[in-house]
Amino acid sequence: MNHAARIQRLIADLERPLLVSSLVNVRYLTGFTGTAAKLVVTPEACRFVTDGRYAEIARELVTALPATELVLQGPDLVATLGEVLAGAAEVDVEADHLSWSFARKLAGSLPAKVLPAIGIVEALRRAKDDAEIEALRRAAAAGDAAFRHVAALAGAAATEGELGESLIGAMRAAGGSAAGWPPIVAMGPNAARPHHRAGTAPIGTGLLLMDYGCVVDGYHSDMTRTIWLGAGDDPEMDAIHAAVLAANEAGIDAVGPGVRAHDVDAACRAVLRGHGYEEHFVHSTGHGVGLEIHEAPWLRRDSADVLQPGDVVTVEPGVYLPGRGGVRIEDMVRVTESGREVLTTSDKALRPGAAR
Ligand code: ZN
Ligand code: ZN
Repeated sequence: MNHAARIQRLIADLERPLLVSSLVNVRYLTGFTGTAAKLVVTPEACRFVTDGRYAEIARELVTALPATELVLQGPDLVATLGEVLAGAAEVDVEADHLSWSFARKLAGSLPAKVLPAIGIVEALRRAKDDAEIEALRRAAAAGDAAFRHVAALAGAAATEGELGESLIGAMRAAGGSAAGWPPIVAMGPNAARPHHRAGTAPIGTGLLLMDYGCVVDGYHSDMTRTIWLGAGDDPEMDAIHAAVLAANEAGIDAVGPGVRAHDVDAACRAVLRGHGYEEHFVHSTGHGVGLEIHEAPWLRRDSADVLQPGDVVTVEPGVYLPGRGGVRIEDMVRVTESGREVLTTSDKALRPGAAR
């Protein structure tokens, strides 16, 4: 990962100092994966502030970063930040990532005026570089690898929770590590709840919704497939699956550079409206995915985001009928210079592998 280029770009973008306190943002900029660090980035330089536990790791990291210096914090972090920011008239803080009490303490102690800033590093994180795309590709491929074994895994699992664990195991075997969130595995009527927690419900025959992913080099995958297990059928679920699949494909087709994110959402919604299911699509169409499972840009009705090359987003329409069941189909899509590339390639059929 080219952290030096990222620091360089942030330094060049800034008009006043920025205190980076989100550990995800610190990781993005420096490669640091520990639990305590802050960056003070100014239009000229970067200070990496951490405590003694990380001195050795941090010393090594900063040698690879341009205009970056290590500062080991004293017993009072705010006092250390005050020294680092001596002479600054103003400092931006990450309003989404700072506790109220810490922000108040900063504002009361620093000579600089403390200003809330939102999404500065997150905006940089949107444009994934080649190494990030490679990590996302490998994570998506591990999810696809698990899905290839889904019939056998479901056959061997007694409960939703067990199948979730099997999916994690299969992704691990394919090179992905477990994500911070457990797979959503929902059998039958449980699939009517978009964020059902996989539990002790038995894996039997019928509708099965699985939303899962893993992590490679810190980067997440995220995919959903809904399949029919075993014999029998349910004409209404067939109809819903056909509608959601058409919405998923319309959404993917709408993704491209310069496209307004809310237009992708609208494309999915229009298909579901045509099938009479719009009111049952109760969440947004998708989200960016990267170092965080949910990050900018946001594919929803009220989004002001415009898609740009390097964005990796999900397209995940769903239809849910309370008490009956639900269908969601989710893919990861990379925005390219001229269009799009779908990173998740698993069969989307209700009965995978069956002739349609
Ligand atoms: Zn998902
Ligand atoms: Zn998702």
